[in-house]
Amino acid sequence: MSVPLCRCVQVSETVEIPERSGTAFTLNQGDTLIVIDPRGEQVADLLAFNAEDVAEVISSGRTLDYAETIYLTTGHQLYSNRSRPMLGIIEDTVGRHDFLLTPCSYDTFHHFYPKLQPHRGCFGNLAAALEPHGILPDQIPTAFNCFMNVPIDGETGKLKVLPPISKAGDHIAFRAHMDLIIGLTACSAPDSNGGTFKPIHYRIERG
Ligand SMILES: [Zn+2]
Repeated sequence: MSVPLCRCVQVSETVEIPERSGTAFTLNQGDTLIVIDPRGEQVADLLAFNAEDVAEVISSGRTLDYAETIYLTTGHQLYSNRSRPMLGIIEDTVGRHDFLLTPCSYDTFHHFYPKLQPHRGCFGNLAAALEPHGILPDQIPTAFNCFMNVPIDGETGKLKVLPPISKAGDHIAFRAHMDLIIGLTACSAPDSNGGTFKPIHYRIERG
């Protein structure tokens, strides 16, 4: 009797990124990364670098140009500065993310929150997490900000940073089109996260 071939997908444990922190890890071509907002209203900044050549990096400008929209969701590709697809969005339970604004940083805190204790923010957390992968702070581009809610007035161009519309358990899933180094945070900026800081969860399905 023949045994059916198992096409099992290897699924990693769900990993928690504690509030106001970040991490980096590798993703292989064909893997799926699922970024989860476990409590709701929490942003996660995502970066991607070509694991073979970190000069190739996720590009907001290329991606928004090719997508012809600033609101990316299922079916859209995130392109590199060399116009190659790095990550495809294959599932999205929220439908509102941002790819215009750079990771929050010490300077962001000085600019917007001069009365609050400054924090190194997503930028500092990403720089620390990516350093062991040979990536320098000046190589950090605009991040794809999962769950970040930045509505734009179409007439004036004025933008606002409002609380995310994500609810507890909402998620967005990306398929890797090449071997990647990923940076991912639980964002540290008050306005981006409805005034409170929560963890982010992620899971990898090995392709
Ligand atoms: Zn942030």
